[in-house]
Amino acid sequence: MTLRENVKQMIEDCTSNLSVKIKHYTRFNQPVRIIDDTFSEMIGAMMNNTFCGGSGGGGWDQCDGGEQKDVSHVQSKFCGKCGKKVVFHATECPHCQSTKFKASKNQKTFNKTNPRDGRAGINAKSHFKHFKGLKEYRLTLTEPMTDNPSCNQYRIRYWVISKDSKHLNAYAKAQLESNKSNHINFQPLKVDFYLSNPILKFDGVLTVNEGSTSMNFNYFNPENQVSEEIPAEFIDVDSQTVIESKNFNKERGEWVRN
Ligand SMILES: [Zn+2]
Repeated sequence: MTLRENVKQMIEDCTSNLSVKIKHYTRFNQPVRIIDDTFSEMIGAMMNNTFCGGSGGGGWDQCDGGEQKDVSHVQSKFCGKCGKKVVFHATECPHCQSTKFKASKNQKTFNKTNPRDGRAGINAKSHFKHFKGLKEYRLTLTEPMTDNPSCNQYRIRYWVISKDSKHLNAYAKAQLESNKSNHINFQPLKVDFYLSNPILKFDGVLTVNEGSTSMNFNYFNPENQVSEEIPAEFIDVDSQTVIESKNFNKERGEWVRN
């Protein structure tokens, strides 16, 4: 089997119970991860012909120095009536039975029901402390094809971001040197993502059927080295401006040369 066929097979095998899982989880208002963190690490391991680290914590996620990140846009919404959090696949609020939903608490209309702001945590301290052993960041993103509770198709993409990415290093350095936490909230498809030169390796759609799933790739190229084109909305921003806008050193006071 080719790598493409192997990845397809593994994803289908490991997600085959999703139709029943979604039913049970939704009944108890528990979010379902279509692809979870540990499975995302396995996808990264297979794509790079390596193994996972054998346990969570300590060292990078994969034996070759890969660090896996997994983000889901299959996110909970807010009930339009009682304001409580309700899982993506629920058609009505389990608390008040309302069928009106919002993506954020303060939203006035019910047009948008999914925040689509899922993020991956990157530890700025580990990034530099263990930089030598780090090979690259690997990122999976799962997005519902429609923001509808009955949605049964999910777009799954996998990118690689070089550890030498200029923007990511400048961002991590600013985060580390700030008096804020060492934790970077990295959002796929947003400005920091595109400035970090993510390289797409696959793009496909997972369809959840009764008792099985099917994964079909629209693009599969582990050899790709060309990073994503920066979308028009981010084309005029540069790395330094983006990092300065995060106000890392606002409270610190800066030494100014006269
Ligand atoms: Zn409610």
